[in-house]
Amino acid sequence: MMKTGIVWFRSNCRLYDNPALMQACEECDNVICVYIFDEIQDTEEFNLVSLGPHRQRFIQESLSDLNHQLQIRGNGLIILRGRADQHLFKIASYFDDVILYSQSMPGWYEQQQENKINERITCVFSPVATLIDFEKLPFLLKDLPGSFTAFRKKVEKQLVTSKSTNIPEKIPRLKPFEATPYSIDQPSRKTDKRCALKFHGGVTAATKRVEEYIWSTHCLAHYKKTRNQLIGANYSSKFSAWLAQGCLSPQLVYQEVKRYEEEVVSNESTYWLIFELLWRDYFYLSAVKHGAALFKAGGIKKIGYRGSQDQIRFKKWCNGMTGVPFIDANMRELKQTGFMSNRGRQNVASYLIHELALDWRLGARWFEHWLIDYDAASNYGNWNYLAGNGHDPRSQRHFNIEKQAAMYDPEGQFQALWLEP
Ligand SMILES: Cc1cc2nc3c(=O)[nH]c(=O)nc-3n(C[C@H](O)[C@H](O)[C@H](O)COP(=O)(O)OP(=O)(O)OC[C@H]3O[C@@H](n4cnc5c(N)ncnc54)[C@H](O)[C@@H]3O)c2cc1C
Repeated sequence: MMKTGIVWFRSNCRLYDNPALMQACEECDNVICVYIFDEIQDTEEFNLVSLGPHRQRFIQESLSDLNHQLQIRGNGLIILRGRADQHLFKIASYFDDVILYSQSMPGWYEQQQENKINERITCVFSPVATLIDFEKLPFLLKDLPGSFTAFRKKVEKQLVTSKSTNIPEKIPRLKPFEATPYSIDQPSRKTDKRCALKFHGGVTAATKRVEEYIWSTHCLAHYKKTRNQLIGANYSSKFSAWLAQGCLSPQLVYQEVKRYEEEVVSNESTYWLIFELLWRDYFYLSAVKHGAALFKAGGIKKIGYRGSQDQIRFKKWCNGMTGVPFIDANMRELKQTGFMSNRGRQNVASYLIHELALDWRLGARWFEHWLIDYDAASNYGNWNYLAGNGHDPRSQRHFNIEKQAAMYDPEGQFQALWLEP
């Protein structure tokens, strides 16, 4: 009997280093590739849907690129909108012998959804692509260290460069599957000219960015010195949006950094990019471990946190109208472009939590909607951390905004860029 594999692409929009796709191609005669804009996931919270315009555009570009790569190999991508579980049940019902292959997601809602799908279809879920090989973790998930430093010391020596990042040789499509596709007309592209980088979705653009940041500009060699800056394409890698959608695998970044260290230079900056990627791994593990608590007011420490949900103060923060230039400049950059530097994110989050005394979840949701690189584990993990509900050995991170602005924008260039008409 013909065996069919449904490959459900989620935040793994690439052909290489994609265990779900690889396994389906090895085990099945017929492979159906599908991406679903999940309506249930996109419910409103605090009057905001999850998927905002910048990420929507970036995903559409990523899918277009993925579809093209699949077509070159004789397959193609079916793009749907609606309830993911219902679409998957429907597709599966067309075949007698069928398995669903996908990547598991760390969010609580996604975990529930996966369990539900698993009850009706045979599923193989692979973990989110990370640097660490989770099968070789030197501790059980329940014993995940409470601080990043303790975690890093335990796993750092186990990183590997040899993990395969191959593309399956064949992606067989024997029996066509007809579905009414969700149209992904290329969205209009009006990038604000002040945007740190022209973020274009897809593996092709991601690969180009890696080449540019590491090899042609050698910015990697100075990353540790520049990473806290605020203006331009090259103060930090800008890999996050491609990593979040899976157009870029952390394993590939790791291998390129190691190659750079061998062929050009190995220094504290090359090490630091890997160090930062380990934060991403840590937040991923933490999200899986703590489940729903990550999204609750009291966070993973389950403390009795009570922030205000005052809409007037919140709207001022959202729209960059607080009257504090450093905060307003960062918030305007976010809304206009979908990106904000790490330094900016820390400051605006601290301001919302401490100066405005607002519920941190309002800020996290605003970020979720607007960030082009939104990732549930990293976003909610960082917000928990800054609100003092997360993995921080200190009880709170309260930034002195004036001091921060003087230190990181001494000439006021960043503030002028976003505040002056
Ligand atoms: C309140 C808040 C919310 C955030 N929300 C997100 C989010 O939704 N998605 C997201 O990818 N990052 C998030 N970050 C982390 C960080 O700000 C971004 O990853 C980074 O600014 C992206 O720019 P870059 O790719 O140039 O980073 P680089 O400095 O070049 O770092 C390289 C990579 O390391 C990882 N990384 C770096 N810092 C962190 C960190 N603190 N936590 C987790 N991973 C990190 C990212 O994958 C990043 O692409 C958040 C940080 C804060 C303070």
